[in-house]
Amino acid sequence: MISLKNISKVYGTGDAATTVLHEIDLEIGEGEFVAIMGASGSGKSTLLNILGTLDAPSSGEYTFMETEIGSLSPDQRALFRRTLLGFIFQGYNLLKKTTSIENVEMPLIYQGIDSQTRRQMAIEALKEVGLEDRLHYDPGQLSGGQQQRVAIARAMVTRPRILIADEPTGNLDTKRGYEIMELIRNFNRQGITVIMVTHEDDIAAYASRTIYLRDGVIEKEVKHVS
Ligand code: ADP
Ligand code: MG
Repeated sequence: MISLKNISKVYGTGDAATTVLHEIDLEIGEGEFVAIMGASGSGKSTLLNILGTLDAPSSGEYTFMETEIGSLSPDQRALFRRTLLGFIFQGYNLLKKTTSIENVEMPLIYQGIDSQTRRQMAIEALKEVGLEDRLHYDPGQLSGGQQQRVAIARAMVTRPRILIADEPTGNLDTKRGYEIMELIRNFNRQGITVIMVTHEDDIAAYASRTIYLRDGVIEKEVKHVS
C-alpha cells in the first residue's frame, strides 16, 4: 500500500543543514499496524509527517497505491490527505470552546456534506468511541482520555484507510492509555491501516510490527505475534 524508497529529510541549508532522515526504505501493507519507536530526536515525527503528507521529503520516492505522492499538486495532496488519512496527536488538537459534535463534524464540512448528515455521522463516530453522553461538552469539560476519544472520532468520521497517530497516549496515564489503544486496535481489526509513533514498549506491543529509528536510520524491525 505504502512504499518509501530512499527517503531523506534535510532541515536548514549550508552550514546549518542537518539530515534527520537518511535514505529510508519502508513498505507498509494494507491492514498493518506499525509502531515507530526510537529516542527523542531520532526522526519519528518527521517520518510520520512525511507518511501523512504533512511534510515533504528532501529526496526519495513515496508511493501510495501506484500514486507517486511527490508528483501531486498541493491541492491533490490535500485531497489525498482529507479522504484517505486520519490523524491523532499527543496533544489532541481539538478546537477550544467547541463541542465534541462540532469538533467531529469539522472534517465533514470540507467534504461538502449537508449539516443534518454531518450531525448524524458525528454522533455515530462519538458513539463508537463511547462518548454518546458527552456530545455537547467542550474540551475544557472533558478529561484527557475523553479528549483523545473525541480526536479519534474526528479522525475516523471520514472513514479513512489509514490512521496516523503521533504518541497518542503520551499525555495519558497507563489505564487511559490502554483504553485508547483498545479503540485503535478495534479500528485496525476493521481493516484500517495504523501507523503510530510511541516510545513505550507496552504501547508498541499493540502493533503487529515495530520499526526502530536511530539517528534517522531504521536500525531494526521486529514483528509481533499476537
Ligand atoms: P522525534 O519525533 O523522534 O523526537 P523529530 O522527527 O521531531 O524527532 O526530530 C528529528 C530531528 O529533526 C531533531 O533533531 C529535531 O530537532 C529536528 N527537526 C524537527 N523538525 C525540524 C524543523 N522544522 N526544523 C529544523 N529541525 C527540525
Ligand atoms: Mg516526535
